[in-house]
Amino acid sequence: MSNKVDSLDVVIIGGGVAGLTTAALLARSGKTVTLFEQSSREIGGRARTTHIDGFYFNQGPHALCITAEGDSVLKEIGINYTGGISAGKTYLIRNGKKHEVSGDYGSWLSLGKSDESFQGTDGSQFFNSPTQIDFSQLEGVTVQEWLDKNIHDSNRAEIIKTILNLNTYANDPDIQSIGSALHQVYMGSRVGYMYLDNGWQTLVDGLLTVAKNSNARIVMANKATKIKRTDSSEWIVLLSDKTQVSAKIVVIAAGPKEAYNLFDDQERPEILTNAAKEAKPIRMVCLDVALSNLPDKDVTFALGVDRPLYFSVHSAHAKLAPDGGALIHVSKYLGTSIEPKPREDQPELEEFLELLQPGWRQVLVKKRPLPNMVVSNAIVTAATGGLAGRPDVKIADNLYIVGDWVGKEGLLSSASFASAKRAAQLILNE
Ligand SMILES: Cc1cc2nc3c(=O)[nH]c(=O)nc-3n(C[C@H](O)[C@H](O)[C@H](O)COP(=O)(O)OP(=O)(O)OC[C@H]3O[C@@H](n4cnc5c(N)ncnc54)[C@H](O)[C@@H]3O)c2cc1C
Repeated sequence: MSNKVDSLDVVIIGGGVAGLTTAALLARSGKTVTLFEQSSREIGGRARTTHIDGFYFNQGPHALCITAEGDSVLKEIGINYTGGISAGKTYLIRNGKKHEVSGDYGSWLSLGKSDESFQGTDGSQFFNSPTQIDFSQLEGVTVQEWLDKNIHDSNRAEIIKTILNLNTYANDPDIQSIGSALHQVYMGSRVGYMYLDNGWQTLVDGLLTVAKNSNARIVMANKATKIKRTDSSEWIVLLSDKTQVSAKIVVIAAGPKEAYNLFDDQERPEILTNAAKEAKPIRMVCLDVALSNLPDKDVTFALGVDRPLYFSVHSAHAKLAPDGGALIHVSKYLGTSIEPKPREDQPELEEFLELLQPGWRQVLVKKRPLPNMVVSNAIVTAATGGLAGRPDVKIADNLYIVGDWVGKEGLLSSASFASAKRAAQLILNE
């Protein structure tokens, strides 16, 4: 081992939004921060955007929950972004037929059962008008248990599952915590989800600029391979280029399995062993499509009810395509247990797109299949007590984890932002 670098205040491993947010918050408060990202070309992890021929391709469908933890941290750091809220006419697809409904879930549910009001004891009244309830009481209850108890109409239960797919990306009623899922529906309903102009790279670039302007060092193409404690209770981080750095504090902003692999068995905090064993990633098959024009301008958002399929023209609400063009995301919710089948999944997504935008192939500019994307590193399960069961950011003295599998707040990127904020606060208070 060579090139031992002088001791740093903080080393951050991983340059997704969790790592970059932590770097920005700590660097602007005066900490000496170095962030290592393994990718040689791209920073931003799953939040990065590829710009091709005037089209902005996020990594599958991305919408920011704008009243949640993510939005508030970004505002606090001073990251500016614009975009549009996805709202309005929706098509629900059942048995290959399109059913037009309005943007509110109440009208979706009326497709489930039209002869009954929502005002009774039926739990679907929550979806008709999402209100704040004590979500923590429901953290240990699965989606299926809650549906069995509250929703007696199978069509309506199917539509509620569709709403939960949309809000949480999970497709696992037998294990998912209904408490965290309802909380997400409530948060999303307060102001909504925003599609971002020029894609999520805006957030990545904004965070990167704040971090760099505050003298954080961002090192690309260097993977952390091992973390070891020194005699003086500092950390040594070994890197793939065979150098090593020492730091007072290490923040791991990678997934649970990567975090697990960074330690020798005798040095690994037990919580990482459990997290790596128990975390069930939520996955999705995606087809990202750029068209020179939209064949049917009336159809911009649709969801499968009897199949877990998603379709949205993100460019209808945000600047993601050149004039007249359209940027579309079509996806299938795999959840934690459905295995991707590339030979069947992509034709299924293309057929769904043909139903909604007939003739799309004639105006195709580019299509990008993403056959197996990890949307979240860990589904929030009822068995582990919901959000309360996720590991906290501090896992040992001067050792922290951040990401979408960490902390008691938020799902998806909101968890990455919230855990980054909490880790930075704890580090600055120490
Ligand atoms: C298809 C899809 C749709 C999504 N839709 C939404 C949405 O609508 N709303 C929402 O809020 N979220 C959404 N998400 C989730 C969101 O993208 C993620 O939660 C968020 O980007 C995670 O950021 P992160 O920094 O925690 O992890 P990541 O983005 O995974 O970043 C981790 C980084 O660490 C690096 N790394 C790993 N190991 C090492 C190592 N040993 N050394 C150095 N670097 C390392 C990786 O290369 C990577 O850059 C979606 C995700 C996908 C895939």
